[in-house]
Amino acid sequence: MAEILVLVEHDGESVKKVTGELLTAARGYGEPAAVWAGAGAEGGRARLAEFGAAKVYVAEDKVFDDYVVAPKAELLARLVAEHQPGAVLVAATAEGREVAARLAVRTGSGILTDVTALGDDLAAEQSIFGGGITVHSRVGTGTPIIAVRPNSVAAEPAEGAAETVPVSIEVSEAARGARVTGRVEQERGERPELTEAAIVVSGGRGVGAGENFALIEKLADSLGAAVGASRAATDAGWYPHQFQVGQTGKTVSPQLYVACGISGAIQHRAGMQTAKTIMVINKDPEAPIFELADFGVVGDLFNVVPQLTEQIEKQS
Ligand SMILES: Cc1cc2nc3c(=O)[nH]c(=O)nc-3n(C[C@H](O)[C@H](O)[C@H](O)COP(=O)(O)OP(=O)(O)OC[C@H]3O[C@@H](n4cnc5c(N)ncnc54)[C@H](O)[C@@H]3O)c2cc1C
Repeated sequence: MAEILVLVEHDGESVKKVTGELLTAARGYGEPAAVWAGAGAEGGRARLAEFGAAKVYVAEDKVFDDYVVAPKAELLARLVAEHQPGAVLVAATAEGREVAARLAVRTGSGILTDVTALGDDLAAEQSIFGGGITVHSRVGTGTPIIAVRPNSVAAEPAEGAAETVPVSIEVSEAARGARVTGRVEQERGERPELTEAAIVVSGGRGVGAGENFALIEKLADSLGAAVGASRAATDAGWYPHQFQVGQTGKTVSPQLYVACGISGAIQHRAGMQTAKTIMVINKDPEAPIFELADFGVVGDLFNVVPQLTEQIEKQS
């Protein structure tokens, strides 16, 4: 059985949730082999075993922490040449997409990015033109390189041996073109990371003011959710730009997306419409976002959101 390489997303200590999703997907196409670039592999090994990694290729060289994406693409290219895997799966994060693109160039392979589902024979589903069209495609050249959006696959545990296979690699000068000069940890508090969260509660212009975002945060906290915002809300300075969802913000694909006071402009939809379940709270029954809604409440969010939060808090 061919190996399916999965590039591990990690912070040097813990493995990101999306890697469990990728390993789950990989199991359907071959033997999942995780690829760990940088320090901390021993700490993450158990987690990789939990999601069925048969092997963990470990390249602990400092070069992976000191330089941006190019060394990772080089490492994967080398593993592709040596092991001829059936495919390489990476997370469709900003870094993952760039690694995938560089790897595709190096290996002369086809690449599919922003994939929202994988079917038979690695047929990939993508959502394009602001989500207006769903495309099915399959790589026809070389080793399929596929960048899968976080939350597209439900991670399911399955025990794997996670046998450590050390890899030593001399990364080229060309791959050391851009050096990391510093890292600043983002203040995130207790909430999950927006693109990884299973539930996202977002607020738009309907929230009316920055201080009113406390209502959105309270609802999010009652659900253990991340907070998102429309561009109208971030442009108004009501919520930081890093939480903007949409074409020019983050793309999220959670199990549940709760849109509060958001009209559903195409640029906003582009970032959230692959959510599995969409709930809308909007006082205008004609708001276009209702076209996407699995559940909709026509009402004033200042009435609905506190009641919803109270009910959820009572039940938990
Ligand atoms: C190139 C480009 C890129 C863009 N990128 C993005 C992007 O990444 N993300 C993004 O979000 N937008 C983006 N936009 C902007 C987008 O076109 C919309 O302007 C924006 O999404 C509107 O945000 P909104 O839905 O919060 O506001 P509005 O469209 O003003 O809608 C507010 C909604 O709140 C409802 N409402 C008002 N008061 C209440 C209340 N008390 N209770 C309940 N409901 C209420 C209203 O009925 C209305 O439906 C982009 C635009 C361009 C041109």
